[in-house]
Amino acid sequence: MTTLVALRAPKWQVHAACRNTDREVDWTDSEQGSTAAADCKTICRLCPVRLTCAITALTRDESYGVWGGMDQADRKALRHADAQIAA
Ligand code: SF4
Repeated sequence: MTTLVALRAPKWQVHAACRNTDREVDWTDSEQGSTAAADCKTICRLCPVRLTCAITALTRDESYGVWGGMDQADRKALRHADAQIAA
């Protein structure tokens, strides 16, 4: 099963730190300031594909979870700042 999941995942996800952690972390709780989000961000800090993960989430406009070390509020703030610069 793990092999099938790896084959279907984008290549960068094979190197994701969150795939290889023993820690039990709730990746779906993206509430800013929550313990779960903080735990996820700690793992993301050491992830070799963090930038690709963050860009993927921003491109998809992901609504939930921590991606690339950013929770939903972080992504929203980044999009807002980007729009301000573009204006
Ligand atoms: S940046 Fe975080 S969420 Fe993204 S692949 Fe790495 S550990 Fe997983």
